[in-house]
Amino acid sequence: MSQPLYLYNTATRSKEVFTTDQNTVGMYCCGPTVYNYAHIGNLRTYLFEDILKRALLWLGYKVKHIVNITDVGHLVSDEDTGEDKMERGAQREGKTVWEIAQMYADAFMNNIHDLHILDPDLWPKATDHLDEMIELVQQLESRGFTYSTSDGIYFDTAHFPAYVDFARLDPQSLQAGSRVEMGEKKAPTDFALWKFSPRDVKRQMEWDSPWGMGFPGWHIECSAMSLKYLGQPLDIHCGGTDHIRIHHTNEIAQVEAATGKQFARFWMHGEFLVLDKEKMAKSGGNFITLDTVKQRGIDPLAYRMFTFTAHYRTPLTFSWDALHAAAQSLQNLKKLIPGESAEAADADLVSEGIARFGEAICDDLNLPRALGVLWETLKNPNLTNATKRAVASEADCILALDLLTRDAREIVTEFTSATGEVIKFISSAQTDHATLEDIKLKIERRKHARARKQFDIADAIREEFARKGYVIKDMKNGTTECVLP
Ligand SMILES: [Zn+2]
Repeated sequence: MSQPLYLYNTATRSKEVFTTDQNTVGMYCCGPTVYNYAHIGNLRTYLFEDILKRALLWLGYKVKHIVNITDVGHLVSDEDTGEDKMERGAQREGKTVWEIAQMYADAFMNNIHDLHILDPDLWPKATDHLDEMIELVQQLESRGFTYSTSDGIYFDTAHFPAYVDFARLDPQSLQAGSRVEMGEKKAPTDFALWKFSPRDVKRQMEWDSPWGMGFPGWHIECSAMSLKYLGQPLDIHCGGTDHIRIHHTNEIAQVEAATGKQFARFWMHGEFLVLDKEKMAKSGGNFITLDTVKQRGIDPLAYRMFTFTAHYRTPLTFSWDALHAAAQSLQNLKKLIPGESAEAADADLVSEGIARFGEAICDDLNLPRALGVLWETLKNPNLTNATKRAVASEADCILALDLLTRDAREIVTEFTSATGEVIKFISSAQTDHATLEDIKLKIERRKHARARKQFDIADAIREEFARKGYVIKDMKNGTTECVLP
């Protein structure tokens, strides 16, 4: 790898150089619970993970990327109480749990594609991995890490002293400050590995197990799927910061207790999107989805750009104004990128620009700084158009903002005159042919007038164009570009 990649590892609370002795980097990202739409705060986490993956690919690593679909077993509360979110979603909408899961998984994937997030290699579903989960619980059972209560099989955290390490939990305050509904649990930190189906309720999703009919706990799903597809230790496990204290702490406990080996080397967590100073959460009811953004006529890529304005480990405050500003900023950035030209880029200056951009990315994915480098490069009067375009093209491998393609709404029409002059019209709506012909004639007349030093004629045409809002640019390669309002 040409340059070292520094990543902040939650496990050590420090930036470390990322290395791997595997041919392929294993990357596991906790996926969506498909009982409702993802809100844009959830999507911020997947955007940070996408930058991580793109950075690894850009540096030349192969990546095996897994994102699970949690379609069973995620309870309303993190403390193993409350209803299953999936069963509740199904009741709310009068559909089967399976229909709900499919519908919201499809919606999630549409969001992912709209945001130019690369698909993982696999989208394993929890409901396809019951055997693996049961096997992992049996392994824990045989090693003496479980006990059973009237409502399930629990992990006994008292037998795993390292439990408090990952989230830096204070064991004293955990006991004293706990207002957690304990039920029959021996300790507030103990968690369900397998829940029994309630006797009086027929669940839509339930499976037979050595312990009776029931369904898996949420934490065991991720562990069973990541072990199956990525082995141990996996290179990078990602999620949101809300996963640190319970979900990832529990995952580490059960995997390391079951196998006696390190679970994951790097743990990376994305910070929240903040709305009105509150974490944007599905349980709060009032949340914004990507469809809401699209319905307001805002390009999903503007949201992608918006999340780049803060480092992934910094909370980002959402407002519609800030999103509109990001959309404008994306347009401005695109306008700075020159069109294709025949001239050759300066190889040294291109690699210098790319190296500076890459350095910011390799410093724990510092996107605000990387974007700063790109703006600076594009505004640098000493760089040629071809050099700027080459740097932008490389940067877009990571940014994935479609920087080199013009706005999809822009329609480009090209004319070549009899004398071989090329005029390129760029408009946001279809312009009728007669208008284009008229402009074309005037551009040619203006050119000839200037050549014959008939400046009054040339100026009159220029003034007319300015009045109508046409922007005429004489490009270096001899073509004329005309941007229509
Ligand atoms: Zn997970």
